[in-house]
Amino acid sequence: MAGTAIRGRLTWQTATVGVVTDETPSVRTIELQVPDWAGHRAGQHLDVRLTAEDGYTAERSYSIASAPGEPVMITVERLDDGEVSPYLTEELRAGDEIEIRGPIGGYFVWDAADPAPVLLVAGGSGVVPFRSMLRHRERTGASAPVRLLYSARSLPDVIYRTELDKEPDGVEVIYTLTRQQPPDWTGHSGRVNAALLAEVAWPEDQQPASYVCGPTPFVEAVANGLVSLGYPAGQVRTERYGGAGGTS
Ligand SMILES: Cc1cc2nc3c(=O)[nH]c(=O)nc-3n(C[C@H](O)[C@H](O)[C@H](O)COP(=O)(O)OP(=O)(O)OC[C@H]3O[C@@H](n4cnc5c(N)ncnc54)[C@H](O)[C@@H]3O)c2cc1C
Repeated sequence: MAGTAIRGRLTWQTATVGVVTDETPSVRTIELQVPDWAGHRAGQHLDVRLTAEDGYTAERSYSIASAPGEPVMITVERLDDGEVSPYLTEELRAGDEIEIRGPIGGYFVWDAADPAPVLLVAGGSGVVPFRSMLRHRERTGASAPVRLLYSARSLPDVIYRTELDKEPDGVEVIYTLTRQQPPDWTGHSGRVNAALLAEVAWPEDQQPASYVCGPTPFVEAVANGLVSLGYPAGQVRTERYGGAGGTS
């Protein structure tokens, strides 16, 4: 059994595209039917490999957007000058096949059995692994209190908004809108800064679990901010998506 699971993670396999859902004008969730899926943990990612007719290949990583036990899903933001994300968000159709490998990662994961308060800080598409964690919490009936601080450009850019706005018991979702706010907006505006982190973060003496995900400069700024609040550096888990910070 263990051998099968390890083989499943490390080798490329063919996945068939299932339901495709538009989340925002530039973000799409893609369900993947993977016959040999070994199961995943909340927060893990997978790799996608595309091969052109001339044999050229491109590989990218995508966080798994669904909870353990649900069909595998990824959520991809289109970068207009990108190589892979425009194909995944615009060309791919139900029934198409792509190569994937995973699940990958044993560090940026959350287990619903952990009762510690959880702080999740997302920049743009960095919210994807947190959707897996929140669904995992919901499906298992876990009671760890969770705060999600989510930085997005504008309200229409918020991914999974309907789902996040439900805020099940024990879950608080705090948005900050960096570029455009609706006229009646009473929430936070601007980038995540020290004052906002201090307001939202669980006090360090409660020994919270903390996760930060998004474009690299965003992740570094937030992780530094949490360390300044007294969070031990080694306990702030980070997932860097790359790029120059355009998504938050
Ligand atoms: C572990 C991991 C998980 C990831 N999960 C997701 C996910 O769930 N959803 C998702 O949409 N992406 C995710 N990414 C990012 C993804 O792997 C690709 O980097 C992204 O889709 C861009 O690929 P591309 O080929 O379209 O662009 P590229 O051709 O690689 O890059 C085009 C340009 O965009 C810049 N760029 C790359 N990434 C970003 C970014 N995030 N923000 C701003 N500029 C950027 C590059 O520096 C380059 O200048 C993840 C990355 C990692 C490492």
